[in-house]
Amino acid sequence: MAKYKPSNENQMVMLPISLQDQLVPGTLEHTINRLVDENIDLSVFDERYKNDLTGAAAIHPKILLKVILLAYAKGMISSRQIERACHENIIFIALSYGYAPDHSTIASFISSMQSEISSIFSDILVVCEELKLLGGTHFSLDGVKLSANVSKEWSGTIDELKHKRDKLQEKLQRVIAEHAQADKHPQVEIERQQKRERRFQLQVERLNEFLKDREPKLGSEGKEIQSNAVDNESAKMTTSHGVLQGYNAQALVDSKHQVILAAEAFASQDHENLKPMLDSAKKNLVSIGKTPDYFEGKELTADSNYHSLNSLKVCKDEKVDAYIPDIQFRQRDPRFADQERFKDKKKADAKSSPFSAADFSYDESKRVYRCPNGKELKCYARNQVNRHRTYDLYHARAEDCAACPLRSRCLSKSDASRRYLSIQVDTGQPNLIDLMKAKIDSEQGKKIYARRLAIVEPVFANICVHKHMDRFTLRSKRKVDVQWGLFALVHNIGKIHIFGALI
Ligand code: SF4
Repeated sequence: MAKYKPSNENQMVMLPISLQDQLVPGTLEHTINRLVDENIDLSVFDERYKNDLTGAAAIHPKILLKVILLAYAKGMISSRQIERACHENIIFIALSYGYAPDHSTIASFISSMQSEISSIFSDILVVCEELKLLGGTHFSLDGVKLSANVSKEWSGTIDELKHKRDKLQEKLQRVIAEHAQADKHPQVEIERQQKRERRFQLQVERLNEFLKDREPKLGSEGKEIQSNAVDNESAKMTTSHGVLQGYNAQALVDSKHQVILAAEAFASQDHENLKPMLDSAKKNLVSIGKTPDYFEGKELTADSNYHSLNSLKVCKDEKVDAYIPDIQFRQRDPRFADQERFKDKKKADAKSSPFSAADFSYDESKRVYRCPNGKELKCYARNQVNRHRTYDLYHARAEDCAACPLRSRCLSKSDASRRYLSIQVDTGQPNLIDLMKAKIDSEQGKKIYARRLAIVEPVFANICVHKHMDRFTLRSKRKVDVQWGLFALVHNIGKIHIFGALI
């Protein structure tokens, strides 16, 4: 007959555990522990604690920072998840010295880090520089649009939100009336009605509070854009997966080991963010001892979302060797001629397209253009600036076009009264858009721009996929910036961990 040792789970066992031994050299937690202890100036946190004379002792910021950095590196964003890890996971227990901070302590520490995050970011950049992880020759800029911790349901112009508030108010009145008649209903039904009533009441209160003395939010063109009653600093953004209410998280990356030099979240489109990102990177680099002209003569690549006259002017002023293509650069590239999505639609539709400017001839003596039907087009406006270029504008006489047999080929719309013609004017000034086109179409330009993909895209894959940062869990730009900055910090610490021989 088989004989087994007794299995008794009703017994107490005391296990000796050395917390220090849990942080094994060569692991990420060991790197984080050493960096926070030895390389980050934690005195920046002293200001926020005023408990030297009264009040209980606080958990040391180094503990909170270590725990948060490891949690973010493991894709744990929720403060409740982090709190649980500090109770259950021996590595987190070791990093927190067994203190197990609660979720509210963790959440308030993160959301109030705005003034300290840049100092910590610079401290980590110093380590990157000491370990020679910064190449300083080529930089790439990119961004990802991430949902904010709000719903699109709370977005709209001020009038739309007022309308929504009034609708909710009506609904609330209806629910209250129904509730008054529901006294004879079972208790469970009454409770359900009360819950609905409370929900509508809260929604109305939220909108009332938001709309009190609220001015319309204006976009970059001075027109009203949608506000959001929960996080009014977030914005509606279009992505390849649809529209979201959120922020555009940007990162400027050094090419050598993909170290992030600047990270910030904006509620604006990519092409508006090149200057603030360059400024932010310069500020971080100056804080580690570099000169303000650090980017002069260096290569900068960014995708066509950054292509705008303003972005190119910024690069010119900063003397940056920029490679930022326009959206049609693939269509001009013979290497992509066979690919359906990059086929030049204009060429394909050339037969059916209306007459172009090349079909009109200039009559020097009369200073008019002559159309394929021999009629004159007179100039009605000169030197009109349209985004990037200057044009002279001509039009034909409505009577000529009305009776013209070539109407259907000449006018883009069948009900158009006459033909208009825009002729680009040579202003003698170098056009930055055309110069960039020529630069990006050159063999050298293509070679340099091709590096962008391998430099910056893996950074976003690491943060958004590997570390599960697929939406912000905080509200307001200030807090979202901290969260994005912490992920950039964790990314850079990962680089130190992998490439840093000293740690
Ligand atoms: S539609 Fe007007 S501009 Fe065009 S070809 Fe006819 S007359 Fe000329």
